[in-house]
Amino acid sequence: MTSDLVRVPGAFGLGQVPARFMPDAVTTMVCGYCSTGCGLQVHLRNGEAVNLTPDPEYPVNLGMACPKGWEALTALEATDRATRPLLRNRETGALEPVSWLRAVDEFVARFKGIQERHGQHSIAFLSTGQMCTEEMALLGALFKFGMGGLHCDSNTRQCMATAHVAYKQSFGFDAPPFTYADFEESDCLVFVGANPCIAHPIMWQRMLRNPRKPDIIVLDPRRTETVMNATLHLPLAPKSDLTLLYGIANALIRRGAVKRDFVEAHTNGFENFARFVGEFTPEQVCAAAGLDRADFDQCVELIATRVRVSFWWTMGVNQGHESTRTAQALINLALMTGNIGRPGTGANSITGQCNAMGSRLYSNVTSLLGGRDFAQTAHREEVAGLLEMPTEAIPSASSWAYDQIVDGIESGAIRGLWVIATNSSHSWIQQDRFNELVKKLEFLVVQDLYPTTETAQRADLVLPAAGWGEKEGTLINSERRIGLVKKVRRAPGEALSDFSIFRLIAEGWGCGGLFREWRSPEAAFQILKRLSAGRPCDITGVRDYRHLDETGGIQWPYPEVECRKPETGSEETASQLALHTSDSKDKERRLFADGQFFTPDRRALFLFDSPRPVAEPTSSEFPMVLLTGRGTSAQWHTNTRTGKSAILRKLYPAECYAEIHPDDARRLGIVPGGKVRIRSRRAELVANAFVTPTVQPGQVFIPMHYDAVNRLTCASFDPHSRQPSYKHCAVALAPA
Ligand code: SF4
Repeated sequence: MTSDLVRVPGAFGLGQVPARFMPDAVTTMVCGYCSTGCGLQVHLRNGEAVNLTPDPEYPVNLGMACPKGWEALTALEATDRATRPLLRNRETGALEPVSWLRAVDEFVARFKGIQERHGQHSIAFLSTGQMCTEEMALLGALFKFGMGGLHCDSNTRQCMATAHVAYKQSFGFDAPPFTYADFEESDCLVFVGANPCIAHPIMWQRMLRNPRKPDIIVLDPRRTETVMNATLHLPLAPKSDLTLLYGIANALIRRGAVKRDFVEAHTNGFENFARFVGEFTPEQVCAAAGLDRADFDQCVELIATRVRVSFWWTMGVNQGHESTRTAQALINLALMTGNIGRPGTGANSITGQCNAMGSRLYSNVTSLLGGRDFAQTAHREEVAGLLEMPTEAIPSASSWAYDQIVDGIESGAIRGLWVIATNSSHSWIQQDRFNELVKKLEFLVVQDLYPTTETAQRADLVLPAAGWGEKEGTLINSERRIGLVKKVRRAPGEALSDFSIFRLIAEGWGCGGLFREWRSPEAAFQILKRLSAGRPCDITGVRDYRHLDETGGIQWPYPEVECRKPETGSEETASQLALHTSDSKDKERRLFADGQFFTPDRRALFLFDSPRPVAEPTSSEFPMVLLTGRGTSAQWHTNTRTGKSAILRKLYPAECYAEIHPDDARRLGIVPGGKVRIRSRRAELVANAFVTPTVQPGQVFIPMHYDAVNRLTCASFDPHSRQPSYKHCAVALAPA
């Protein structure tokens, strides 16, 4: 047995591995789990990936990876992969294998039949932030320009819609301004509703490299892993963040910490904002948020006195009932203190999924390709010209958001649904309602790696898809860096890349002619370049996939002008000239260094609204607040892929658990490790009690990865982004 083993260099940390797994070549690509976008070295044997290690050269992760990255290949090796299309037998009710020809025929006949009976817009799709950008773009173009559909959304609605809307309204474009170097260059980092220690561990490692010994302020109801490493924790009451941020703005104004010259030169609306926040006194906000005045004052002091302050947020902000204004309250703080466009600063939304950023710009769902607006005639004409298609083929109306599509199923407006690479039956808020409603559909198609997800189990047709590593394309990470994914494994059985499936469907639908130029992912990338020209996300300077591979990914914007050698006497700006001098991997492509935003007058806007009550306050029957969030860095969303790895499964509890404060446990007779019943107005579940002071009295936390959690959550939405508020609902606890 041991004769088969070979010692692998210690730097890889692999110890002894069987010789048949010894690599004979190495290539590089980016990880397909989270938005950090780490570079991985892929070790190949006979052209097939046999192992992965972090890429020490990649500018994002500098040789580091989290457990998910190390284990990324195991998700492809699962025994329950979808290997053939499956069609539900209407008599037996079983899913049975069929040919691709039959599957596409069925897809086309049944969706077209629904459109004929119920109208063009009676079909919809729900997609993902996990596919490659080229695939998202082809899907959105196929559905809206080829199939005549309108209503579509993706699971990025559940994580990033708020950041998208907040940036677009405040900056004029969905433009996260930062680069990861800002983690290393801040004097003070303010994390709001973010736990990078486990949710974005490589970004946290970047922060630990910061030589400036920065102050770390965390605003979070829980004492998270990040809080345990912070300078200052503000354990605010759930959903009091908007009030608190307005109070901080008011206190900064009163102590004269406003950068007046920046505000006057580059923003609009500050005076109205200053008047508005005047009523948010320290006494009032500390009472509303349940905070000590001394902690509040220290937070204000640190923000006011540190030279480089950066504000970072994730789902604690985005998944709230007033999330857009909360994100904009952070943007307002950065603007008023001049903490934007300089190293170590910024109002910085960290995204979740590996290609949420690609989805935001190119999925053709909420925004027209390239971050344009469907409602603007000029934008539709521009895209039609670039794609050489009639302008009339581009809808001028906006799609319904995810929750509106779900409501549309209830009302009968939506009769056919195509779910691609997402697991709505687990992840959508108020899960039982969703699962009841899908029974009303005349046709449910699920396209996924696995026919075993909760959603695929309900499908009429399952289309087997290749996964990350079995196809090629690009992903855009949180710092706007475009990274390359390569095909390093053969997909099992008859599974096809999503790109190939969309092309097959286009042919079957009879609109393949519209997509002749989209003959491969790299050909589609060239189309995306064309669509980006002159936009804030211009990437016309990226030559091709090889260019991305050689440079370690490239952050947008990267317009062609930056790649030309400047001619003598050229009037190019100093910053443009500076970009010629170094390779892209050495550049920090931070936005707004010149104070010029993307609004018509190039000024950022101060936007604000009065805080609103939560949808479901606590009551005598439901006296506690349920918080949800990420559990460990070994888990990813619904565990569809991470659950396939025996190693990752060892890193988190197998059964659902609930964090409960010791005072509550004592009061309710709940014993540590015992079973606890958690009940909301919609459903109940039983979990293992983890009695811990990391949650405050009156609160209970359950990781989102366990399938029953969203049976409890309350379907309320931010009015601007329509992002669900996963972070607050009223529950009751009792020993089970
Ligand atoms: S931090 Fe994200 S991108 Fe990096 S290895 Fe982990 S899952 Fe992959």
